[in-house]
Amino acid sequence: MKYRCAHCGKANNGWAGHVNRARARGLKLYCDRKCSGLGRRLGKTKTQLKEEKRLYDIAYRAKNLEAIKAKKRAHFQKTYDRKAAAQYRKQRMHLHVEYCRRPEYKAWKREYDRRYRASEFGEFAEAYMLTLDLNREIKGRKTNAEIKYENGCTNKSQRREREARQGPSRNRHSTANG
Ligand SMILES: [Zn+2]
Repeated sequence: MKYRCAHCGKANNGWAGHVNRARARGLKLYCDRKCSGLGRRLGKTKTQLKEEKRLYDIAYRAKNLEAIKAKKRAHFQKTYDRKAAAQYRKQRMHLHVEYCRRPEYKAWKREYDRRYRASEFGEFAEAYMLTLDLNREIKGRKTNAEIKYENGCTNKSQRREREARQGPSRNRHSTANG
């Protein structure tokens, strides 16, 4: 029995039963699988399809999170080899060491550690970090000589001589005398 492909329009010959069944149900008939596939396309662009899949995946993950996690846990328990993993880590340790020596990593780690240490102050973490910065700034503006003078680390022999003459001094540096 004759019918026309719903995609390319070519005339075909098919089993009467198949054609009648399709017509009775208002279904489309195609030449072959290729025409069927092309005929069912919705004309979406690749970006559109990717975006839809991305959103679908997010929804799927949110909905089935427990099941996904259980599955992953089971696979891990089944396949994890503690000894092999340790061996593997050991083999690659020199690479890890090199990785940690990179200046970008050091900068990142410095910032990470700073935040980590500040996190123990909870909601005051920001204030703590600002205080540290301020302290560093103040220290940066003073010279070493100034700091040493304030801490009583300068002119020691002079001071000792003076103290020997006058008895124990009560000046402001007396506690820091080394
Ligand atoms: Zn066709």
